[in-house]
Amino acid sequence: METHLLVYTTHGRHERIIASIQAGEIILGRLILNVLTIALVFMSFRSAQATERAVLMPQALKNEIVTREAWGSKPKPIPADRKQKPLWITLHHAGELFHEGKDDPAEFVRKMQIWGQNRPKLEKPPRDTYWPDLPYHFLIAPDGRIFEGRPVDYEPESNTRYPLKGNIGVEMMGDFNVQQPTLKQIRSCVLLTAWLCRRYHIACDRIRTHQDVAPGQTDCPGKNFYCYIKDGQFIKWVNEALASKEPSISLTFSSADHNSNNQSVQRPGEDSGSDQKNP
Ligand SMILES: [Zn+2]
Repeated sequence: METHLLVYTTHGRHERIIASIQAGEIILGRLILNVLTIALVFMSFRSAQATERAVLMPQALKNEIVTREAWGSKPKPIPADRKQKPLWITLHHAGELFHEGKDDPAEFVRKMQIWGQNRPKLEKPPRDTYWPDLPYHFLIAPDGRIFEGRPVDYEPESNTRYPLKGNIGVEMMGDFNVQQPTLKQIRSCVLLTAWLCRRYHIACDRIRTHQDVAPGQTDCPGKNFYCYIKDGQFIKWVNEALASKEPSISLTFSSADHNSNNQSVQRPGEDSGSDQKNP
């Protein structure tokens, strides 16, 4: 009896121990699962935060942005088949003289938008195509202000022939075959280009100018800006901005030349090579 009882007791204790281990395992398993779930939620939150931080516009750039609402943009609807994924940053000049302090950049942008929408009435073929919104995505004034143009998720417009899809068009006001870009204008262009690279995961070798993509069709963005592309300085400044440093921009000519060089025989609106008509 005693032996049986002992076996029974031992057996019963053994079963209780097994049951309690099993219960413990279930509890431990649930605990591990809960910890893992919490860790995963936390990690995805942190990663979302990191992504959000990466695309945030730096304050120095934000200070220069003039929103569509602020300059009074009145775009017409753009057809859905013109949607794009940004892949390239294409730099332009307006190809039209801009007189800093005299010409109003907001007025310039508003007029360009109205002109684009009225091209079928104003222009002869093949330039009579309808442009529902500005041909460029950003337009930079000599004072460094950046005017928001067409939303970047729609392809730009052009009178030259090149694949438009994927291009973010950045235009600087002025005719850089005649005038000099200003320091403020180039700084804004550098900061904007760097941010666009970061925001849309565009590599620096995908920064180019209009004449690079449409050779023989245009001399945009003008020799006085193209020189900084050709000697690699522009990309160097963009890389500095990407490294969160102030770009070490030094121009061959001072900003004062922007206006002094306006002593040209060309008058605004008479420039037949106007890039406004040839974005
Ligand atoms: Zn151009």
